[in-house]
Amino acid sequence: MTVIPAPQTDVLRAQDPELAEVLLGELDRQSTTLQLIAAENFSSPAVLAALGSPLANKYAEGYPGTRYHGGCEFADVAERIAVDRAKALFGAEHANVQAHSGSSAVLAAYAALLRPGDTVLALGLPYGGHLTHGSPANFSGRWFDFVGYGVDGETGLVDYEQVRALARSHRPKAIVCGSIAYPRHLDYALFREIADEVGAYLIADAAHPMGLVAGGAAPNPVPYADIVCATTHKVLRGPRGGMILCGGDLAERVDRAVFPFTQGGAQMHTIAAKAVAFGEAATPAFTAYTHQVVVNARVLAHALAGQGLVITTGGTDTHLITADPAPLGVDGRTARGLLAAAGVNLDCCALPHGDVRGLRLGTAAVTTQGMREAEMDRIAALMGTALRTPARAAAVREEVRELTGGFPPYPR
Ligand SMILES: *Cc1c(COP(=O)(O)O)cnc(C)c1O
Repeated sequence: MTVIPAPQTDVLRAQDPELAEVLLGELDRQSTTLQLIAAENFSSPAVLAALGSPLANKYAEGYPGTRYHGGCEFADVAERIAVDRAKALFGAEHANVQAHSGSSAVLAAYAALLRPGDTVLALGLPYGGHLTHGSPANFSGRWFDFVGYGVDGETGLVDYEQVRALARSHRPKAIVCGSIAYPRHLDYALFREIADEVGAYLIADAAHPMGLVAGGAAPNPVPYADIVCATTHKVLRGPRGGMILCGGDLAERVDRAVFPFTQGGAQMHTIAAKAVAFGEAATPAFTAYTHQVVVNARVLAHALAGQGLVITTGGTDTHLITADPAPLGVDGRTARGLLAAAGVNLDCCALPHGDVRGLRLGTAAVTTQGMREAEMDRIAALMGTALRTPARAAAVREEVRELTGGFPPYPR
């Protein structure tokens, strides 16, 4: 098991067996159960090596060439490589790779464009908006005046006419498009048109699909949005972290919004790992991966429908599926527990049709493991069994162990 570079595992085991045990237990859990959490993936040993590198020791406040600390010559090179690769990968004029997370990226985007009290139009939380899109429990809901648009209760699709009507009546300073649970492509050109009509900024929070964008398997928001926020750890398969892309006109405002406005020192080991991930994402193998992710999601959605689940929007364009297990006699929360007991990990989430909790799952991680269409059919069948006959959880758990045994996420 070489998820952590072997020498480091040995060092940890010798010095702190208690914690080494925990890390190896987690590796075993990830390797022997199914990871269908839509936001998760398996980053490569090279990405993990960069994360565990001595750049973790380095303080590097500021930006390459203008740091507040000495000794930044290698940190500067790492960050320049990450920025150049991100710009090339997504066709952006400017990239900031310092945002610590997807949420930090959104916070910085708001800081760059908005003032407290400004009106912002975003997908409502019950329809898949993120916490940073106006939740009262988050800074966004406290400091800005959020108006939520929704999805059609029947089709589950974004209601663009409602977006346009709300934009006209509320005259927001910014419109946010992006979701934690939307399985279809967004029409960025239409969002741009609506934003232009009311003189609003367009912020695309593409945390989920940005990896698909890198591989050409989803439309790129960069040509349409003033600012694109993303995570680097979802389909993109890099380290946990955030990223912001924008035009040259907003570059300075975005950089200052990240540091010094909302963050301190850059996490240089993470930035190095982002550079590694962007390098991987520029390869033909990654392009093929992203297209297989979508094929797998479509096959899985179809097979889950065959098991009796109701698939929101009738399918998916992406890695992400939301489904209502109600026809099997369980709600989303109960279903999540039954599936976890059977070794299948996924989330529950709000569903568009009213106050229902359904399931949210994705194919990014299982596809990284090498699973394809046949495995998706098998996963759906196992899920159907686990949901219909909870008494068979242990038997399904054994089948999951056998299935995952053929697709180890890390070389042994
Ligand atoms: C995942 C996600 C985020 C937040 O990312 P974190 O790294 O968890 O902070 C923000 N917005 C959307 C749409 C997301 O899907």
